[in-house]
Amino acid sequence: MPKVAIYPGTFDPITNGHIDIIERASRIFDKIYITVARNPAKVPLFSIEERMEMIRAAVGHIRNGARLEIIAFDGLVVDCARRCGANVIIRGLRAISDFEYELQMALMNRRLNENVTTVFLMPHENYTYLNSTIVKEVASFGGDISTFVPAMVQEKLKKKFTRE
Ligand code: ADP
Repeated sequence: MPKVAIYPGTFDPITNGHIDIIERASRIFDKIYITVARNPAKVPLFSIEERMEMIRAAVGHIRNGARLEIIAFDGLVVDCARRCGANVIIRGLRAISDFEYELQMALMNRRLNENVTTVFLMPHENYTYLNSTIVKEVASFGGDISTFVPAMVQEKLKKKFTRE
């Protein structure tokens, strides 16, 4: 049976940390749905279409491994997994600070659907302090983010912040 997983997140925008996790996961699973939250708790900087387009461009080089599909989703992650025919949720774990929230989510999701298991992957240590929020903050002040995001994302951020 093919191993199918979902990788849910906001991806506002996708960073090299997310890409690292997708590369690692693609060596384990046959198919990964990168599921982009349409209505996250925070108002995203980028629209759902922009976020999906950036992901599409950023993962195009990942060839040997899982088939990747990028979809938008609303609602519960476990429902999204069921609709995709996935029994695994992939999450990235950077530091201890992620652990408490991720444990809570994983246990809640397991309570909601026993058949779906959360699998945590650790990124390369270069990315352990990296998240979309900090990248946006640095970009908003014109800082160099070239080692944190693909060049195309860097361009999009630059445009966003010079227009506003
Ligand atoms: P969310 O809004 O669900 O936190 P994100 O898009 O920020 O969504 O992240 C999606 C997933 O990717 C989460 O599991 C998060 O821990 C993981 N992630 C984000 N940045 C990194 C990183 N630098 N290294 C590893 N995992 C990361």
